[in-house]
Parts: sequence; structure tokens; C-alpha cells
Amino acid sequence: MKGIFVVGAGPAGMFAARQAAMAGYDAFIFNRDIKPGGLAEYGIYPTKEKMKAGLRKQFGQVLDMPNVHYFGHVQVGEDYDITIDELRAMRPAAIIFACGAQGTRKLGLPGEDAKGVYAAKDFVYHYNRLPPFATMDFSTGKHVAIVGVGNVAIDIAHWLLRDDPAHAAESVTIVARRGPVEVKFDEKEIDYVEQHISKPELVAELERVRERCARCNQDVSAEKLFEEHFRRMKSPDFVSIAPRLSFRFLSSPTAILPDASGRIAHLEVAENDLVLKADGSTSAVSTSARSILDVDTLIFAIGDKHDAHIGLPMGPDGYATEPATGSAAEPHFAVWDAQTASALPGCYVVGWARKASTGLAGIARHDGESGAAKAVEFVKDQPDSQTISSRQVLERLQAKGLTPVTKADLALLGKAEAREAQARQLPSFKFSDNADMFAAITGQKKEAEEVQLSPAD
Ligand SMILES: Cc1cc2nc3c(=O)[nH]c(=O)nc-3n(C[C@H](O)[C@H](O)[C@H](O)COP(=O)(O)OP(=O)(O)OC[C@H]3O[C@@H](n4cnc5c(N)ncnc54)[C@H](O)[C@@H]3O)c2cc1C
Repeated sequence: MKGIFVVGAGPAGMFAARQAAMAGYDAFIFNRDIKPGGLAEYGIYPTKEKMKAGLRKQFGQVLDMPNVHYFGHVQVGEDYDITIDELRAMRPAAIIFACGAQGTRKLGLPGEDAKGVYAAKDFVYHYNRLPPFATMDFSTGKHVAIVGVGNVAIDIAHWLLRDDPAHAAESVTIVARRGPVEVKFDEKEIDYVEQHISKPELVAELERVRERCARCNQDVSAEKLFEEHFRRMKSPDFVSIAPRLSFRFLSSPTAILPDASGRIAHLEVAENDLVLKADGSTSAVSTSARSILDVDTLIFAIGDKHDAHIGLPMGPDGYATEPATGSAAEPHFAVWDAQTASALPGCYVVGWARKASTGLAGIARHDGESGAAKAVEFVKDQPDSQTISSRQVLERLQAKGLTPVTKADLALLGKAEAREAQARQLPSFKFSDNADMFAAITGQKKEAEEVQLSPAD
């Protein structure tokens, strides 16, 4: 048998598995989390229920394919549950890595380890109830700064300003190293929180950075910005509501200053100049001027990086892939071994594992399918690798002391969650602790056994 292994069950992994299964191969998914979905389940904003439900349905359809096998709660990597070499010993015909970008980027600032300083992904995992982040301390204070000006930063502001059950935030400040015309968020996302912006305060901030932006031919007039990025502000009737959302442009964090308890009390930022580059883009260059922001919580939303502990060769931008040749537009999925200057046979990366923090779920799906198509092309011409059966895979994992979650377990967990959702009158419910998930699976198994044992009336 030629089996294709897929590491990770986010959109890229699930659709890579589907592609492999549709080509007639058995797809074996190994996923760190008990449940599939990755950031589609544990990153996409909690109230985007319709989008999440749609994705869950599609993932369910993939798992329903008889030649797709699932092993959740199994983390692949040098320092984790099972190494790549151990996977190889099960004789897959190819391995597709779809494990996303699990590392967090740090700026190496003084005070970065202070309490109340978080990486965006960890914080997002927390409010989306992914174990173990769900039950860890991600307490926020009254004044929160978020570094970064993309959709993830706006999602977090959205949570703090509108949906956080603790309602702790009185102000949220988005800190951006460049100017207002270079914000990266979408109109749809800012729309959720625009009402929290004070128009006079935003106008004052635009005025504060106007001259520096003008040197790079950037027009930051309120008229232009309201037209392009803050459309609600165009209305003369616009009234802002609490808690307050502010922007601090042309500013880069330089130090985190904790209080006596070790929690962040202030953020020092450098004032930046903008420099026009030859290709027309700009770079932010810090000046010697410093400002202090009074904040008790700081969240870095500056993108993620690849987990270096998986055991894949690393390049400058993450896992090393075949160097680009020919058309630069064509992505390269094959993992590259710089030592032998050749592609690792049958080894591919897709989705955010290929390009960290890039694109929406649909893009990750497409990337997973395209990478899997390359894997299928490779496998087709290979002799039978004699991949071990799904039962043997399960036994090997269990023999290592692991507790893999199978498709049958997922179905039981789904039943238990549906029951909880109904009891709580929620559109959906998910357990935020692995132990609770295992208890729910065991509970459902027992119930099913009792039904079987009870005499028919
Ligand atoms: C805050 C946030 C909000 C977003 N909102 C939207 C949105 O509204 N709409 C939209 O379309 N997109 C949104 N996205 C983007 C979308 O979530 C991603 O495009 C997509 O999830 C990337 O898919 P992926 O499969 O490459 O990686 P991921 O979704 O990260 O999946 C990676 C999978 O690999 C597993 N894994 C990790 N390490 C290992 C390991 N060592 N061994 C085994 N398994 C492992 C993980 O458990 C996970 O299941 C958002 C992203 C974020 C961060």
C-alpha cells in the first residue's frame, strides 16, 4: 500500500489529505490538537459561527472518506510525541507537512518577559478555547497596546472592545511602525470596531504624523483616510462609543517597563521616520526620539514563524523549500536539503507551514491541494512503499504511550459537544481542556455500550 502522511489538520492539511485520498491513496493525518481545523477552528473569530460551521462541515466530509485516517493529539517533531524518522519507519510514500506556523516572533526587547505581554496567536488560541492556552493566564488590564496593524490585530481589538466577557479594557491602542496609508487590515474587519475610534483623536494623530508621511509622498489627510480605511467616519453623524480604540502611527516598541509586581506598566516607543526606497515602498527608520505609552497589557500581532523543533531543515524564511527556478510565480512545495543540495524525496510543505501568516483559509486550502498534487505526482511513479495499515499505525502510537484520537473518537466528541451546546442554548460548544475531551469521549463510549447491553423492551 502507498500511504501519504499529512502532518497537521488545518485547512491546508485537511484538503491535502482529501486530494491524496481522491487520487486513490490512503491519507494518514497526524494532528497536534485533538480536533481538526487548526486556525480555522482556533483562530478565526469566535462569532464568525457561519464560516466556522461551513469549514467544520467540509472537514467532516474529508474525515468521512474511508481512505482518510486521523490521529489527533499526536505532535510530530524532534522534541515532541513522535519524530519524523519514526513516521518514516511506518513507510509512507510521501509526507506533507501542513503544521502551520507555530513559533512566535519576538523583538528581543528589554522587559519582553513581563507579565501581561503576549503573542497574538497564543492570545487568539486562548479566547478560541484551544488547550492548553484556553486555561492559561492571559489576563488583560485596562489599557492594552497591540503592536501590528493587520487583521489579527483588529480581531484582538474586536475581542477586547466588544466580546471579552471580562470587559476589562478601557482603551486599546494599535501601534504601527509605518503610517496610516499602510495599514493592512480589511474594511470588513475594521468595520466591527470603527465605532470605538474617537474622530477628533484620530484626526489629531493623522496631523501628528502628516509631515513625516508627506516626505514619502503619502497623503494622510482625514478626507483621504476616511474614504479609504475608516469609512464610517465620513458620516457627520458619527459618534464614538467606549471603550476607546486609538492608533499610534510611526512608532516602534523599544522597551517594556514593568511595575514592582513584574507586570508591564509602560511601553517605550521610538518615533519613526519614513524612508522612500528605490522600488517605491517605504521603510520605517527609528529616530532617537522616544515616547512612553501607559499600558498594562501588550500583545504582539506581528506574524508568526515556523516551529524549528519539527525536524525539517530550516531556511531564512522558515522550512527550507526548493530554491525558486523558472517562473517566480510558481510556488515550491518540496522540502530542500541544503547539505545535499537536493529536494528531500517525497517531503512537502503546504499552507502556513510553507508561508507563515499568509492568506485566508481558502488560500491555505488551495496551497494544500496544490502541494498534495505534487506529492501524488511523485508517489505515482514510485514502487509500492508498503505503508503499514491504519490499525498498525494506531498500535505503534499507543505502544509509545500516546493516546491518539481517531475518527470514531471525534464522532463521539462531536456528539458530546452538540449535547452541551443544546443544554447551554449555544450555536456550538467546545471543551477547553484535553482531559474534558477525553472524559467526554469515554462517557459517550460507555453510554453506547450500556445501550447495547440493555435488553430490548
Ligand atoms: C487570528 C486569526 C484570524 C483569522 N481569521 C480568518 C478569517 O476570518 N477568515 C479566513 O478565511 N481566514 C482567517 N485566518 C487565516 C486562516 O486561519 C489560515 O489561513 C489557515 O488556518 C492556515 O491553515 P494551515 O492549515 O496552513 O495552518 P493552521 O490552520 O495553523 O493548521 C495547522 C495544524 O497543524 C497542527 N500542528 C501544528 N504543529 C504540529 C505538529 N508538530 N505535529 C502535528 N500537528 C501539528 C495544528 O494542530 C493545526 O491543526 C485567520 C488567522 C488568524 C491567526
